[in-house]
Amino acid sequence: MLQLSLLYNFFPLPTVGAYPNVQNLFGELGINDRLQWKEHSMIFAMPNKPGEFSRFDFPEVLPSPLNGIWAILRNNEMLTWPEKVKFAIGLLPAMLGGQPYVEAQDGLSVQEWMKKQGVPERVTDEVFIAMSKALNFINPDELSMQCILIALNRFLQEKHGSKMAFLDGNPPERLCMPIVDHIQSLGGEVHLNSRIQKIELNDDGTVKSFLLNNGKVMEGDAYVFATPVDILKLLLPDNWKGIPYFQRLDKLVGVPVINVHIWFDRKLKNTYDHLLFSRSPLLSVYADMSVTCKEYYSPNQSMLELVFAPAEEWISRSDDDIIQATMTELAKLFPDEISADQSKAKILKYHVVKTPRSVYKTVPNCEPCRPIQRSPIEGFYLAGDYTKQKYLASMEGAVLSGKLCAQAIVQDSELLATRGQKRMAKASVV
Ligand SMILES: Cc1cc2nc3c(=O)[nH]c(=O)nc-3n(C[C@H](O)[C@H](O)[C@H](O)COP(=O)(O)OP(=O)(O)OC[C@H]3O[C@@H](n4cnc5c(N)ncnc54)[C@H](O)[C@@H]3O)c2cc1C
Repeated sequence: MLQLSLLYNFFPLPTVGAYPNVQNLFGELGINDRLQWKEHSMIFAMPNKPGEFSRFDFPEVLPSPLNGIWAILRNNEMLTWPEKVKFAIGLLPAMLGGQPYVEAQDGLSVQEWMKKQGVPERVTDEVFIAMSKALNFINPDELSMQCILIALNRFLQEKHGSKMAFLDGNPPERLCMPIVDHIQSLGGEVHLNSRIQKIELNDDGTVKSFLLNNGKVMEGDAYVFATPVDILKLLLPDNWKGIPYFQRLDKLVGVPVINVHIWFDRKLKNTYDHLLFSRSPLLSVYADMSVTCKEYYSPNQSMLELVFAPAEEWISRSDDDIIQATMTELAKLFPDEISADQSKAKILKYHVVKTPRSVYKTVPNCEPCRPIQRSPIEGFYLAGDYTKQKYLASMEGAVLSGKLCAQAIVQDSELLATRGQKRMAKASVV
């Protein structure tokens, strides 16, 4: 379920409070020691003071939501007191209205909600552009306010809701392999490089088999489709296209994003052992992996991993163009150490990873279109972060969706066993 191809290591918010299912997964696999926890802070670059950062520090001694409120009140560089007060008043209905209020805000973009609540525009510019880009790779004029409120709820309700950890190395080896080993230790099989090419149907419209791109045919009692939503839509059988459950998927469309990795010839000084919000128009969050992540640790050379977003206009541009634009932005974050023409730090190598359709774009009014895991087709189930679950399009959401899917299959076990028996009987007659 987790992408094997992407080399991202950011794990925002994976704490007992905020990412409980991911935490459980790490615990069950016995790999908790692979999470490198960072200080409980959020650190933002200051565009009008190049090279400077502003911090929100969440004190350990205070319970939530006091630690979050304290962090906001103590930060005077990004928001003025009148702005903080107006923002707090704007947020009051969310605090009092709880989950029903949060869900009702799905119809509004972040920008529209801020305007409706009388929150000064500068609050969006200073804080929510960065947050929107980090959460869904888009700007506040597009992002559904529900998405921000879900994240804020986590920050304010859980003591460690905004604490971050990095995986200590590349996800395929450090996270996916233990999952594979676990499945195999229980008698399961994992087939790599075996994409579903076609969903073949029985006469009654239920699934007969999955045809794979290597020619293999997979038959089973229950079928779980755990690809991104765009792939499901591409492979959806014609007979199913008129079913409202599947028709609603049209609104869910993956958002483009680009991941940039740059290895420099020297150690950059103006950085932290943390995820940083760049607040640059082209970039979202970034980190110096030579500091934050064991596998890339180096005392002499920095390796920056950056999320380039929104990427709509850049996804078809050349890697050279993207690196040049990234360097121009980095020159503002590291004015003494990086210049766009590489007359200061020099690039040793780089990777540009383009994902034209990543997590679904959380624009207003998407929530009713997210499917539950049990489809109306008997024996066919969905899993993935876009399916219905209370977290955002995130690793936590993906893991929870897998659990909900498994739960639905267990609930249907009798029905599935009967289907299995019929299938076996039919096969033996043929
Ligand atoms: C750049 C980037 C950074 C991110 N950072 C974070 C982060 O720091 N924290 C966080 O919580 N989330 C992060 N996310 C989001 C997170 O990666 C997703 O929410 C999560 O991976 C979704 O899991 P999933 O199982 O739903 O889908 P995926 O992880 O996309 O898994 C779907 C799988 O389906 C496979 N597949 C595709 N087509 C087929 C086919 N035809 N047949 C069979 N298999 C197929 C794919 O190869 C893939 O392995 C990030 C996403 C991106 C793009």
